Amino acid sequence: MRITKPFALALLLPLAFINPTQASAIKQTKGDFEDKFRQLEEVLPTPNVYRNAAGEPGENYWQQQVDYKIKVSLDEEKRRLTGSEKITYHNNSPYRLKYLWVQLDQNRFKEDSIANTTSDFGAMGRRGPENQAGDRNTPAKLSLGELRRQQFMADNELGYEISAVKDDSGKAIKFTVVGTQMRIDLPEPLKSGDEVEFSIDFAFNIVEENAVSARSGYEHFDKDAREGGNDIFLLAQWFPRLHAYTDYEGWNNKEFLGRGEFTLEFGNYHVEIDVPADHIVSSTGVLTNSKQVLTKTQRKRLEQAKTAKRPVFIVTEEEALENEKEGTNKRKTWKFKADNVRDFAWASSRKFIWDAKGYQQGGDTMEHVMAMSFYPKEGGDLWKKYSTESVIHTMEVYSRFSFDYPYPTAQSVNGPVGGMEYPMITFNGPRTELQKDGSRTYSQAEKRFLIGVVIHEVGHIYFPMVVNSDERQWTWMDEGLNSFLDGVAGREWDPNIPWGVEPRDIVGYMKSENQVPIMTQSDSILRIGPNAYTKPAAALNVLREVILGRELFDFAFKEYAERWMFKRPTPSDFFRTMEEASGVDLDWFWRGWFYSTDHVDISIDRVYKMRLDTHNPDIDYGRLRQIEQDKPSSLFVERNKAEGKTLWVDRNSDVSDFYDENDRFTVTNKERNKYQEFLKGLKPWERKTLERAIKEDANYYVLEFSNVGGLVMPILLELTYADGTVENQYVPAEIWRRSPKKVRKLIVADKSKELVSVAVDPGWETADVDVENNYYPRQIIPTRVEAFKAKKSSGKVNRDIMQDIKTELKKDKKDDKQEKED
Ligand SMILES: [Zn+2]
Repeated sequence: MRITKPFALALLLPLAFINPTQASAIKQTKGDFEDKFRQLEEVLPTPNVYRNAAGEPGENYWQQQVDYKIKVSLDEEKRRLTGSEKITYHNNSPYRLKYLWVQLDQNRFKEDSIANTTSDFGAMGRRGPENQAGDRNTPAKLSLGELRRQQFMADNELGYEISAVKDDSGKAIKFTVVGTQMRIDLPEPLKSGDEVEFSIDFAFNIVEENAVSARSGYEHFDKDAREGGNDIFLLAQWFPRLHAYTDYEGWNNKEFLGRGEFTLEFGNYHVEIDVPADHIVSSTGVLTNSKQVLTKTQRKRLEQAKTAKRPVFIVTEEEALENEKEGTNKRKTWKFKADNVRDFAWASSRKFIWDAKGYQQGGDTMEHVMAMSFYPKEGGDLWKKYSTESVIHTMEVYSRFSFDYPYPTAQSVNGPVGGMEYPMITFNGPRTELQKDGSRTYSQAEKRFLIGVVIHEVGHIYFPMVVNSDERQWTWMDEGLNSFLDGVAGREWDPNIPWGVEPRDIVGYMKSENQVPIMTQSDSILRIGPNAYTKPAAALNVLREVILGRELFDFAFKEYAERWMFKRPTPSDFFRTMEEASGVDLDWFWRGWFYSTDHVDISIDRVYKMRLDTHNPDIDYGRLRQIEQDKPSSLFVERNKAEGKTLWVDRNSDVSDFYDENDRFTVTNKERNKYQEFLKGLKPWERKTLERAIKEDANYYVLEFSNVGGLVMPILLELTYADGTVENQYVPAEIWRRSPKKVRKLIVADKSKELVSVAVDPGWETADVDVENNYYPRQIIPTRVEAFKAKKSSGKVNRDIMQDIKTELKKDKKDDKQEKED
């Protein structure tokens, strides 16, 4: 954030003049008290004609449209992409634009990029020059993978070569490159409602994904039958794309540092991809020239796949293996068309096996969707069995929560990228393992990884590829929402797979020290996995299962998805829609889970049992005497008795008096008269109430809770009674509104109901980080201990050099165990 003049001025002014966005930092209350239910209005942007107070697109909502016609050619040997694009920019904003900003994501790999020059040694998980004990003799750690990255970056010329930017008449347009961004100065300002056409010629060397771990790149297989091996190319962020220009931010101008993903405009694409003739191409969109690039058999198989029960092979494994052997100098151009997409990605290789199965979605949006998978033999049975089926399962579940899948294809492509999403196409990493006998196998973990990653990445085609949130700013809006839903789809596939979205999955992170709130810009997040994926997913899980219930949550969530389908929501649009459509004020929930780093830890500290005083001395005094008698007597007195000591009063009984016979609980008529007067003084309703309460003689329990974690949450109570019955009670979070640190709750139980124990959140549904203080009385904590043997010191001085010096030198023999890279 740039410090602007009004900010500097505000410091000199009285508090009242500080603008509302700073108000959240101002202490709103006196002393220790904190209002956890303070409304969010002062934090959220002011509703306007573009985004209204209900969280809907406003009456003057607008967004830009950018259409692309691209011709691109892949040079397999040089691993280089050369392209030319014609861009039509539609200015739907009410403003005049003098320039346009374009994203040049490939420039992230340039030597002098901010991403490259600011990578912090320690932050990348490498062990620093001093280890924890401060021992300088123990070396720091730098992985071979990191050294490989350094070497690759040094050996290759990376980033875009922009050879021309021209207007529609072919005249050069002035452009200025600023890191991963490029400003194009329009020959004439673009008026509201007008459009402008221009073209960009570009080229770049493709990065080796395994060397630099990017979101796209090539992977080389040097062991394939073909001399020199084969590659899989995954191409994304490959063409200069327009930055988003929005009502809430103007031009998005946050540099691409590698983490914060993309803020993009919708548009229509025609893309012609020129590749070696034996390559199979998977791409965003639909293929428009299948007659030129596919064989008759392949086209016939595609037709069969539309209605098949299980995936049909368009390219079989045998055909792919045959393909792998040869190579060709011939070329083919694959033509794709995609409407209303916010991005465009593709993949190409002669290694691809290709299977497909139609998904009969029904409805008016897209009655039939073709689910397809592309993978090399290394994907093996794992991919054949589960990839395309997982794609279809995802659409079935996600559509229920949002809208019908709106595109004609949904694809899963295997390649070096662990998992990444684009419109209609996803890149997914899992592989099978080659065994000594030449067959392939896979672990349970790899199977879970495949199903999980396909669901997750295909799920992203809904969020954020259609519900087009601003990824560069808010990772949680796509990853959090999508992780929540992939957990829904995942548990409908197999609940025994750990999907990592249950409240219990986030407690370790929530109690950890160095944290930023979910509402943090993507590149500044400290631990992206738990912060932007698990925590928001778990929060939504809690919101659905505990706070709102499924009916209210699902209605509101679907409303959000439908409102913002093919539009651009911001966090406040989500917060407002969820409250507005569910009818439940959730400001406290957003404040606690999304704007703070508090955690959930509710402790039950004490339980009191109370009995109603009857005011009748003949009853109450007797009870008081009983309480007195129930107290343990003094050890001293007991021992005297045991030793046979007699008391003075017993030895001198002739001097005893009234008080030796009667105690302080003896009732006299004085108390009885006072009781009668008390009854006379009561109004008829008071007397009726008292008499009924005495008759019922209920058990009154006061439960005392403290909020150790700071995050206010509902209290989920499980009350167990002496007769074995168990009662569950739900205390809404609002119980904390006037006392966020300590509250007491009165439980009135039947005379016959003796409370024996209380448990808070026994089902672990609220992400309470310390369950030990959830029980009254406390429970014994089960844990484990292991006996160990002390290790000998391994320092160099401990070597037996006298003996070791006699060791013979081993002959150099190739180890037949192939060492796994990375
Ligand atoms: Zn994701």
